[in-house]
Amino acid sequence: MLDLSLPVSTLPLIGPKYAKLLASLGIFSLNDLVYYLPFRYDDLSLNSPISALQAGEKVTLRGEIISIRNIYTRRGKNLQQAQFSDGSGLIDITWFNQPYLVQTFQKQGLVSLSGTVKRYRNHLTLTSPQYEVIHNSPSTIHTGRLVPIYHITAGLTNKWLRSRIASVLNQITSIPDPLSTIAQENRLPPLIEAIKQLHFPTDLSELKQYKNRLGFDELFYLYLASLWRKRKWSTLTSVYPFKPFSQEIKAFIATFPFTLTADQNQCLLEILTDLSRPQPMNRLLQGDVGSGKTVLAVTAMYLAYLNGYKAVLMAPTEILANQHAQTLEALFKPLALSVSVQTSERHDPLEKASIIVGTHALLHRHLPENVALVVIDEQHRFGVRQRMQLIEKKVIPHLLSMTATPIPRTIALSLYADLNVSTLKQMPIGRKPVKTWIVPESKRPAAFTWMKKQIIAHKTQAFIICPFIENSENVALGEVKAVESQFNALEPGFKPLKTGMLHGSLPIKTKNLIMEKFKQHKLDILIATPVIEVGIDIPSATVIVIDSAERFGLAELHQLRGRVGRGEQPSYCLLFTSKNQETQRLKYLESTHSGFELAELDLKLRGPGQLYGIEQSGYLDLKFASFSEISLLQLAKKSATLILAKDPKLESMPGVNQILQAVLAKQTTAH
Ligand code: ADP
Ligand code: MG
Repeated sequence: MLDLSLPVSTLPLIGPKYAKLLASLGIFSLNDLVYYLPFRYDDLSLNSPISALQAGEKVTLRGEIISIRNIYTRRGKNLQQAQFSDGSGLIDITWFNQPYLVQTFQKQGLVSLSGTVKRYRNHLTLTSPQYEVIHNSPSTIHTGRLVPIYHITAGLTNKWLRSRIASVLNQITSIPDPLSTIAQENRLPPLIEAIKQLHFPTDLSELKQYKNRLGFDELFYLYLASLWRKRKWSTLTSVYPFKPFSQEIKAFIATFPFTLTADQNQCLLEILTDLSRPQPMNRLLQGDVGSGKTVLAVTAMYLAYLNGYKAVLMAPTEILANQHAQTLEALFKPLALSVSVQTSERHDPLEKASIIVGTHALLHRHLPENVALVVIDEQHRFGVRQRMQLIEKKVIPHLLSMTATPIPRTIALSLYADLNVSTLKQMPIGRKPVKTWIVPESKRPAAFTWMKKQIIAHKTQAFIICPFIENSENVALGEVKAVESQFNALEPGFKPLKTGMLHGSLPIKTKNLIMEKFKQHKLDILIATPVIEVGIDIPSATVIVIDSAERFGLAELHQLRGRVGRGEQPSYCLLFTSKNQETQRLKYLESTHSGFELAELDLKLRGPGQLYGIEQSGYLDLKFASFSEISLLQLAKKSATLILAKDPKLESMPGVNQILQAVLAKQTTAH
């Protein structure tokens, strides 16, 4: 039996050149090879005797090449002309530019040909058919069946790859299948059968169950991993339980210039309850942009201070970190709490600070030992590894992650079993939804004129979000070009309004300066790239224009438009698109103002691969399964829970444990 962990180079016909080509497809071992599944099948399964052929049919013939010769035409063309017989009749075959075929078919023997029958000068012919010399085995792989088609790379052919895969599959009768019993109990086929069928199916209508088997395994291990993490977290015993300080917290909340919404109160209660437990908190606070997550984090940080500990807040960008620092300083000033900022630009003293705010730079600073609470804002912008780095301490601090990118329920429930989730569904009272319109290309100038009038009449501000330029060799450069050309094109027309430009390639100091100017309303219009700022809070910004909106997911666009609509004035989002076929999808933004609903729609319309914020998380690397398959997800969930309940250490299932550990390792090294 073939050992599937061997490198592909152990197979005949795979030398260094082919090994390298396969490696570029992610295929290193024989195991990788058998799991490299086709993306479609060519149906060549109609077999016919020559006597019954009809013009236009896509058929497979089985017989012998009676004669074959090379012909060189006067115009310099080279073709191979053959006669083929299957006992029922004769047919002419033509190939082009394959002189070696004369050699291939010299020996007599059975040959299978697949192609489309054509009528030529009153008789039937087959031009450039797929061919396959039949040796001992009666079954074919390139003709006469459903033929798998793989994604390949220059230098490889489908025929070559198919032959390599078939030769491995022919040599194995089983495959390591640690979940075989569970699969059987749930009427899922054995792994070996699923793999063989997915490469060389006998019947397309039965493919689903085989796909499900691979999907099941994938979801099973993902869920098992999250249960494993959850359990590991719950066994942490060296912790900081907080005393509640109810009076002080109440008094602190009373200093806010607003009252908390019911949702905010509920989520705060969940957070404060976690903090009082003899176990570190691991909670995700999710809520739409502008739903007011920051004050809840601030309150939790204040409680850390009251308990005599330090708290850290990490944000994905410099600008956001500075904004948080300002919010914190304003709220904590009356209480004489000191805030220390740690960014690539600022390196405040750390010793005396109660509260530390910063960017990724925090990961490289020597933070005090008694940090008892870590808050990560816009958590999806960080890798798992970075998030973990902040809490890897002698005593594990409480962890509060925040995101405005809601995770659809089905995914949250199945993959983040280790996280407790609090959700802000409600917006602060008086917040008006951002009026959203899709603007066709022809109305672009009129839209800018309208925007200018709005800004002048109401003394408000606007964002213009520019597209990336596709096919640019350097993405960052493309962005800069797009922003610069927009700026140059629009700036004169916007006068006397003041227009600023912001993109990722500017030095951080310049970025901060421009952002600060915009915040202080010294600039009226900011032309910027889409990635530049999440979570930025500028109440007098009321218009956002998004160019090439079709490139974004709905949830992502919702995030972008969340930069406006934070003040008293009505706000507007204009979506420019030149792609008519995309307007249907974008229309959901006109009518839907819930980030959660939009995320669910993204999942439905674009699939999980496109889910904003999820794909970066490092948790999701689904090859076979799809989150839209709820019943499979539930089955995987049930099975994983059961197996861990039966055998908490997986001692009786070393195979399962081995794969699980690999999945866990992969998740923590993502990013
Ligand atoms: P996000 O959830 O997107 O991080 P923020 O925390 O930045 O939102 O809050 C957005 C704005 O709403 C801030 O200016 C904040 O002060 C304000 N805010 C928060 N809670 C309330 C509330 N209950 N009522 C009114 N305004 C609020
Ligand atoms: Mg925020």
